[in-house]
Amino acid sequence: MIIFKSINKLNKEVNFKADIGFVPTMGALHQGHLSLIKNSQKKSNKTLVSIFINPNQFNNKKDYKKYPKNIQKDLKLLKKLKVDYVLIPSIKDVYANKSKKKFKIGKLNKILCAKYRSGHFEGVLSVINQFIKKLKINKIFLGEKDYQQYILIREFLKKNSNIKTILCKTIRMKNGLAYSSRNRLLNHKSIKESASLTLKVKKLFNLLKKNLNNKSIIKNFINKNKIFNIEYLELRNKNNLSKKINKKNVKIFIAFYIQGVRLIDNF
Ligand code: AMP
Repeated sequence: MIIFKSINKLNKEVNFKADIGFVPTMGALHQGHLSLIKNSQKKSNKTLVSIFINPNQFNNKKDYKKYPKNIQKDLKLLKKLKVDYVLIPSIKDVYANKSKKKFKIGKLNKILCAKYRSGHFEGVLSVINQFIKKLKINKIFLGEKDYQQYILIREFLKKNSNIKTILCKTIRMKNGLAYSSRNRLLNHKSIKESASLTLKVKKLFNLLKKNLNNKSIIKNFINKNKIFNIEYLELRNKNNLSKKINKKNVKIFIAFYIQGVRLIDNF
């Protein structure tokens, strides 16, 4: 495993003729990240993992400051998996030639996470844009847990590159809660409660699929689960996130707060 702290160095030393799978992360690695990496190792010649907490995608300074970090543990996990290349760049390095590109997110900027996290996806696309300009990668591996992010990056890469976007399924703890770096900010009780909410959402989704027009079910669910401070709970079309849903294309999306931490999930 070779660790690079600078993009230039990486570009000098890596043979980009190899088919390279890229797994961008913000660190505090967990089983979800590891599954993306294993997927990349199966489907690519070499795997490059980045660890970069992108300040541009945080719309809240406190959230950025308290974002979990554990580089030493991350590196141990990556070494165990025999990852080829790890990139841990500085903010200056990533944004050295700040692009003036405007990211048109259109309708998707008004819904789900974008509605509540102003500028978040512009920040996500700005870092992806820097990475694809500077690194000659062939594939990018993204998790289903951040589904709106996946759709936006997929569409962005379709327009701006030949990079293939590969969606990897959400990995969950035994209790059903999706792994997330933010789970580290929660105490045991909150983890348990979040897992129980997750299971309830899954059940609700199965019920809703039998009658997609019954909107009062969602309203009642939110009212019954007030302790969670549910930000949104919505059914959307998985192809384009529109509200044109049917039993085959429907997905349910949730964002909620517990112990001051914002978690998202979908089924
Ligand atoms: P993050 O470090 O949170 O920015 O996530 C890096 C990548 O890991 C993104 O593509 C996420 O969607 C993905 N990811 C995060 N949690 C999970 C999970 N529980 N299962 C699968 N992928 C995940």
